[in-house]
Amino acid sequence: MAVLAIMTMLTASATAQEEPKFVEVPPCKVTAATIIDTLTDYDVRHQEIIADGRWWGMTIPRRKIILISDEPSQPVRREIVIHEMCHAYYRTIGLEIPEQIEEQLVQQQTAEIFKEIFGK
Ligand SMILES: [Zn+2]
Repeated sequence: MAVLAIMTMLTASATAQEEPKFVEVPPCKVTAATIIDTLTDYDVRHQEIIADGRWWGMTIPRRKIILISDEPSQPVRREIVIHEMCHAYYRTIGLEIPEQIEEQLVQQQTAEIFKEIFGK
């Protein structure tokens, strides 16, 4: 795994008077164990349209649901599964960072994990 630890600044809570707040974000783990844990807790559903077609995947932690769109090609659907597994993993470990920052981190790591697993 190339990403060992990511330090991210939570800009939302940083004001001129406050010290910037740093949170250590562990790399997303998509291992057999974490996949089994996610499938144990989450209902993974396939459907064509998600959020009026705005997304191809979605994780809804409070309802323990992962939605995967059937619309994109199979390689893209694989990436979507990895991406949503990362979000589920971060919910499982209780990581709390702003959504946009998490989205960027998950995007970066999805490409690396995909390459690691599928070799391209
Ligand atoms: Zn996402």
